[in-house]
Amino acid sequence: MHMKAAVVHDFTKPLVLEEVPKPTPHEGQIVVKVQASGLCHTDIHAAHGDWPVKPKLPFIPGHEGVGYVAEVGRGVKHVKEGDRVAMPWLGYACSHCRYCVSGWETLCESQIPMGYFMNGGYAEYTLAYANYVGRVPDKVDVFDAAPLTCAGVTTYKAVKVSGARSTDLVAVFGIGGLGHLALQYAKIAGATVVAVDLLDERLQTASELGADITINAKQVDPVEEIKKLGGADVVISTAVSAKAFEQGYRALRRGGKIVFVALPADNYVQLPIFETVLNGISVVGSIVGTRLDLQETFELHAAGKTRVIYEKRKLDQVNEAFEEVEHGTMHTPRLVFDLS
Ligand code: NAD
Ligand code: ZN
Repeated sequence: MHMKAAVVHDFTKPLVLEEVPKPTPHEGQIVVKVQASGLCHTDIHAAHGDWPVKPKLPFIPGHEGVGYVAEVGRGVKHVKEGDRVAMPWLGYACSHCRYCVSGWETLCESQIPMGYFMNGGYAEYTLAYANYVGRVPDKVDVFDAAPLTCAGVTTYKAVKVSGARSTDLVAVFGIGGLGHLALQYAKIAGATVVAVDLLDERLQTASELGADITINAKQVDPVEEIKKLGGADVVISTAVSAKAFEQGYRALRRGGKIVFVALPADNYVQLPIFETVLNGISVVGSIVGTRLDLQETFELHAAGKTRVIYEKRKLDQVNEAFEEVEHGTMHTPRLVFDLS
């Protein structure tokens, strides 16, 4: 049997919509009928070969795929045909290294990222490891579940790692797929939230989602504006721009913490040692989230505490959709492919 998929054959060429063999599950694996598949900016980095470690060509991107279990392989006990599942970035981890056993499976050295080193959700069917899919609660709509599967869990975790509290000023740089959820988790933590982006439309969305202050970094200097507020206790850096990381760093108050989340192709930032030491600044990286983080992300959404703002696209529009995200021309922070 064959299925439709969007395939990257070349880092410098558009994706190709083609018929490829439908996967079959081996031991411990399942095949998921994808219904909704979010477009994360990571998929664009993957398709362009932006990062120091590149995917092996050809591959099918996508790590916000959500659907139902269509087939189960041998030895799979805890999911069955028809169950609703989400397939996050962490496609597989070894489950026995020091990272896995300490609840840091996202740092496992044997991990296999979905839509990067194994085929992902830009397809009608996707092969997954049963132990690493998330269960989607009945109360969570499939199109909401897709962005929550990466943008949601990643920023839920980043806010957790930041330790943001009710008295903190949290600045979220970048109000795209990740940022529009980051600001909601910071609000849930009780913080006062500053949203920073270059697009007024994204800042409008940020206000609607509860951001207390919005700053257009194209029009004013975000560092100056945040300093006027006393400086940020926490910066969550989701803007795909090294410059925004440096601005985020400079917007911190003494004792503040910046969480690196975005992964721009331009891999380096310049940070001063002297000020970092004397001001007691923390710089920390945060990579996606664990299975528990994903479950908690879904629980918050099922409880009505978060909103996902997206528009649908057909998988056939994948190349146009990539351009929309790169230029920020769509009207919502996230695009989701409709494969239902
Ligand atoms: P996105 O394109 O939806 O959002 C990025 C936002 O940043 C856009 O709204 C854009 O207007 C804004 N922006 C760009 N330059 C800016 C600047 N100089 N100042 C302020 N805002 C600016 O992207 P996304 O899907 O939210 O992903 C964001 C980044 O996070 C990507 O690099 C992606 O690869 C990375 N990512 C990291 C993890 C992780 O685990 N750490 C997980 C998922 C995605
Ligand atoms: Zn992602």
